[in-house]
Amino acid sequence: MANNIQAIRGMHDVLPDQTPLWQYAEKIIREVLSGYGYSEIRLPIVEKTELFKRSIGEVTDIVEKEMYTFDDRNGDSLTLRPEGTAGCLRACLEHGLLHNQVHRLWYYGAMYRHERPQKGRYRQFIQLGVETYGMSAPDIDAELILLMDRLWKRLGIRDKVSLQLNSLGSIAERLVYRDSLVSYFQQHLEQLDEDSLRRLKTNPLRILDTKNPAMKDVVANAPELMATLGEESLTHFKTITTLLDNVGIGYEINTRLVRGLDYYSKTVFEWVTTELGSQGTVCAGGRYDGLIEQLGGKPNHAVGFAMGMERLLALMETLELPVEPVVDVYLIRVGEQATQQGFYLAEAIRNQIAGLKLQVDCVGGSFKSQFKKADKSGASYALILGDDEASRGEVSIKSLRDQQEQQVLSQTAAIEFLQIAFLN
Ligand code: ATP
Ligand code: MG
Repeated sequence: MANNIQAIRGMHDVLPDQTPLWQYAEKIIREVLSGYGYSEIRLPIVEKTELFKRSIGEVTDIVEKEMYTFDDRNGDSLTLRPEGTAGCLRACLEHGLLHNQVHRLWYYGAMYRHERPQKGRYRQFIQLGVETYGMSAPDIDAELILLMDRLWKRLGIRDKVSLQLNSLGSIAERLVYRDSLVSYFQQHLEQLDEDSLRRLKTNPLRILDTKNPAMKDVVANAPELMATLGEESLTHFKTITTLLDNVGIGYEINTRLVRGLDYYSKTVFEWVTTELGSQGTVCAGGRYDGLIEQLGGKPNHAVGFAMGMERLLALMETLELPVEPVVDVYLIRVGEQATQQGFYLAEAIRNQIAGLKLQVDCVGGSFKSQFKKADKSGASYALILGDDEASRGEVSIKSLRDQQEQQVLSQTAAIEFLQIAFLN
């Protein structure tokens, strides 16, 4: 016998018993986003490899070792998107959405990174991405944080996440800081691991992002970027923290927070949890004004974030959520005439009661065995159609959740009965 084919390592199926939780989270996410006036944008999953190299940066983990890159049949190098910011900006530039305009956008979908799979880290994972364009004032940075604060509350997990904030300053300020960081680490070369020695030449700020516990001390004593920021960057940052103070959102200023990607400037933030081991970042983002020019646009402003859905759902796993039944009414058919007529009766009911969840038994069997399935389906009512009822234009109805007697009604009266029962 041939071996069963299995899913690709790190890429998961979401089975029907898990989809209600996903749908619940997705519904609340949509509601919160629309409450702030955000619009959805839908983007391709595959982009030219060049787009990610130019935006994310050649010397980042993603571009160096995580991308799913392949040659198209005509020889173009394409990549499964590892994140959404680059594609979103590419689309907005391509369609002229950034010219003298302000946008608040979101997208939702699969991202691909060739990482070592473990809890909270997969090769295909779902992100909610939120991107805003055209706004330089710190209010929009703060709005994104308020929006997420509201989302955590709506989802019932506010106590499981906390906010970390930092400012990376302007690109010029970062260059100056970069030099002082390089000279600091050069005095402590013996404490750097292999990755960090390499980054010292390519992307020294990323050393601060190390997850190696042995380097904790050397990183803790490194000079702080915050201390070297100029007036404008500091004011921008201060405005955000004041807005957060005024609405009562707590945060920790983490001067080591640099983010993995190259394109951030000024604000960076992460929502973190202690409940998911080393996969502790659930949502991360910041300001990336410079990326627009890097991708060929005119100088402009951009702030955004991405949230990992699998990590979010892992935080929601322990919550008791309202369970909605998949089926409201289950139609049992026994006999040849009943089997035919029942099919059309079901359509007539669906025509008249939009939103009713009606399932027809398409396997058959005795009344008893179909009743068992009706019960198991979670439906509140069974409709029972035998040939006798069918020949008289009737149908029986039985409540599956209380002791009410089964009653025989004309099919028209049965529809009216259900209309009243499921009126909400
Ligand atoms: P990490 O430090 O955990 O690798 P990252 O900095 O690479 O995260 P981002 O690129 O900022 O992550 O992506 C934003 C969010 O997407 C993360 O905070 C996380 O919730 C989620 N995410 C990133 N990579 C993965 C992955 N491989 N599997 C599942 N979720 C992921
Ligand atoms: Mg990563």
